[in-house]
Amino acid sequence: MSRIVMKFGGTSVGSVERINHVADIVKAELDLGNQIVVVLSAMSGETDRLINLTKDLSDNFPSSEYDVVISSGEQTSAGFLAGLLSSKGIKAQSRMGWQIPIITNDDFRSARIKAIHSEEILNLLESNEVVVIPGFQGITSEGRITTLGRGGSDTSAVAIAAAIKADFCDIYTDVDGVYTSDPNKVPNAKRLDKISYEEMLEMSSLGAKVLQTRSVETAMNNNVVLRVLSSFSDLSEGKKGTLVCSENGISDKKIVTGVTSSSTDAKLTLKGIKDKPGVAAEILGVLADNGINVDMIVQNISDDRRTTDLTYTVPVDESDKAKKLMEDLSSNLSYKDLIVDSNISKISIIGVGMRSNAGVASQMFRVLSQNNINIDVISTSEIKISVLISRDLTERALNMLHEHFELGKITE
Ligand code: ADP
Ligand code: ASP
Ligand code: MG
Repeated sequence: MSRIVMKFGGTSVGSVERINHVADIVKAELDLGNQIVVVLSAMSGETDRLINLTKDLSDNFPSSEYDVVISSGEQTSAGFLAGLLSSKGIKAQSRMGWQIPIITNDDFRSARIKAIHSEEILNLLESNEVVVIPGFQGITSEGRITTLGRGGSDTSAVAIAAAIKADFCDIYTDVDGVYTSDPNKVPNAKRLDKISYEEMLEMSSLGAKVLQTRSVETAMNNNVVLRVLSSFSDLSEGKKGTLVCSENGISDKKIVTGVTSSSTDAKLTLKGIKDKPGVAAEILGVLADNGINVDMIVQNISDDRRTTDLTYTVPVDESDKAKKLMEDLSSNLSYKDLIVDSNISKISIIGVGMRSNAGVASQMFRVLSQNNINIDVISTSEIKISVLISRDLTERALNMLHEHFELGKITE
């Protein structure tokens, strides 16, 4: 007997037919004698619909009430599935995040889980109930509803798996695993049998939305055995998927494992700023004080030693705020021009093998230049290289890099 957390994403519960299929998948695991906790997303499109309604109501809808509204899609899904299972004669009960409770901090819209009280879940499992829990939602220690950031049901599932010491955390989605690149953008992408936590963490944070970044972080810190599986395959097909595990579990280490893209940032460039100590600190300090996360930063060496250019990226929905803050600083910094560009995309290659192989960056840059793709900004870490390019060239860059590093030939 295994204890399994099964998480189903938005498209997997997107219709009556899909919810019925989820019930069949759950029943199949139950028939094998396993204990099951199910974590569900809202039906696809529902969270966006609710977000848009808050925006229609007010430009400054308070974050605490925003979370009350947008967590409701998950509540509906959990009620649907628990009800359906019960009506089929399968013992099942739903519990909301606040009933468990799943305690988070009060960072509304993207709260972090601090603790999960597992007693009630474990008691229900002992009574042979399937426990159905909405993903994405928690409660502060003061009793306010929170949500965990977009895609947060993945993190709910992994954190619950860690809390109840589940043998597996299975993330069921609309693809049958983690691919070498987004299969919807790179037709030749291949499913990986296994991927290390470290690589998956980079892939997620650099654009592979198949797993929320925090879910991978939580799995890595708690040694949760994480599998990504399809809810669309036939039950008879067996479980093909991807195991996310520690690097030791992977014998065949490639130099490059995956290629990702992310189009969620905007680039701001301040041209001709006075080149004096403290300028970068002032700019980045103002952004930090206003809660704006800066990702890539480049400062050029000035020609005349008097002025310089500084470029940085911020989430695209924060770019207007960042622009306004820079305009407020203009008398202090006396820059000549401020350029905001949202037509950018970040392309990254990821692989633990890069640690021990020089020359990967130059290969990446050559492939891009041979395809007339101009690089704006570069950043690297031990196991990834990222570049900023023009957004309309995203798919071309992904496919060319995928081909160059022979990722379509991965046969595992
Ligand atoms: P869910 O609603 O189940 O949470 P998501 O839409 O959040 O599903 O994540 C699944 C999607 O992630 C896939 O449809 C795919 O387009 C996208 N994706 C991006 N990069 C990858 C990748 N490297 N491997 C698999 N899927 C990826
Ligand atoms: N429903 C939420 C979202 O759309 C959370 C999730 O699906 O993981 O972001
Ligand atoms: Mg998701």
